[in-house]
Amino acid sequence: MALTGIQILKMLPKKNCGECDIPTCLAFAMKVAAGQVEIGACPYVTDEAKEMISDASAPPIRTIKLGSGDNTFTMGGETVMFRHEKRFENPTGIGVLITTSMNDDEVNGRIERFEKLEYERVGVIMRVDVIAVKDIDGDETAFTGLVQKVLDGSSRANLILMSDSPSNLAAAAKLCGDRTPLLYGATMDNAKEMAQVAKDANAPLSVKATNLDNCVEITDSLIGEGLKDLVLDTGARTVKAAFEDNVVARRAAVKAKNKQLGFATLTFPCEMTDDPMMEAMIASVLVAKYAGIVILSDLQGDLVFPLFLERLNLFTDPQRPMVVAEDVYPLTGADEDSPVVITCNFSLTYFIVSGEIEGSKVPTWLLIKDTEGLSVLTAWAAGKFGADLIALFVKKCGIEDKVKHRDLIIPGYLASIKGELEEELPDWTITIGPREAGHLPAFLKEWKPTK
Ligand code: SF4
Repeated sequence: MALTGIQILKMLPKKNCGECDIPTCLAFAMKVAAGQVEIGACPYVTDEAKEMISDASAPPIRTIKLGSGDNTFTMGGETVMFRHEKRFENPTGIGVLITTSMNDDEVNGRIERFEKLEYERVGVIMRVDVIAVKDIDGDETAFTGLVQKVLDGSSRANLILMSDSPSNLAAAAKLCGDRTPLLYGATMDNAKEMAQVAKDANAPLSVKATNLDNCVEITDSLIGEGLKDLVLDTGARTVKAAFEDNVVARRAAVKAKNKQLGFATLTFPCEMTDDPMMEAMIASVLVAKYAGIVILSDLQGDLVFPLFLERLNLFTDPQRPMVVAEDVYPLTGADEDSPVVITCNFSLTYFIVSGEIEGSKVPTWLLIKDTEGLSVLTAWAAGKFGADLIALFVKKCGIEDKVKHRDLIIPGYLASIKGELEEELPDWTITIGPREAGHLPAFLKEWKPTK
């Protein structure tokens, strides 16, 4: 049961010292209860209280971390069934399978594509996260050799080590050093040995079940062995079964507080079909419905890119619009004679508008006004992009020192504020720009200062 702010407050030292960067213990307790800050931010709370509060405020799906440093991949930590209830926390990992039965070309190609596939969207870099290395025939030398090859070939890959042999897994885990791998997989038969390997390697362990009931049995046994960081492969190898298992596991953990299913899931679209297009479609279903990681058989940009986008859309916080900083952005070498365009700070608007300006190759100043992430018309309707606020921003942002002219291009959708803005900025000539960003290049190429 989650603790309330008042219950947490009772366990705090109540110094109201503000060392947690929050002025009072009550406000701090409320933020801990809401999951907005960690209890460890208070240096005075006792270890006993810390453990009690951490356990009580832990998300129903346990948070697991792989890798190290900047390349750490986080999975789980989810608290809701549906994104609109709060938000989804940690994006589904996208991974590729490499096995000891593949030849050098197949292995090298997958590592190369893992490294190269990278896209930027609204300022977010989208990449593949994980390489799953599978021991097919229990040959320790071949398995550890392949793991070493992956480690050498990619300094940022997070690894899943897959073997039925606990000793092979232990040997491969040693090679990973501080790059924490996910170990796979524990069955009812080998749970004890696998648990020991996971403890020795200080790494999370994935269950390798045959169905959901078997999965519960295995996690129960591993929890009994003292393991906390687990991942679930329920054994589903059809899209229907994987979808159902993911939904049942999420619902059981979030709604019924089931501890045995309170872990992220590891899914294998690569083992559900031989058709790459179908595989990508299955992966898209599982990204939408709760997979912690989806493992693909190979990486093709045209199939992975839509998965990246789907993931990006699902895992943005619906209560917090993506924004860029309020600022003056000089694009394509803007100088004192360049046009000045203003728009809002909704990041999608910024990247579309800046992309069109850069594509036009016309040096331009882009003024980004803070509208709390609202788009142009919504911001105007909400009173955050009115003539008075735009004028204030234009005066204080420093653009008057950067250009010789006094011409301001406003979004076409704000045509109705032109007169008002001219009153607020009497030294400036206000020009109504195009409504659609796609028409900006032609508009800018024609633009001339009015004086
Ligand atoms: Fe209270 Fe601890 Fe924050 Fe100080 S650091 S205000 S004692 S919660």
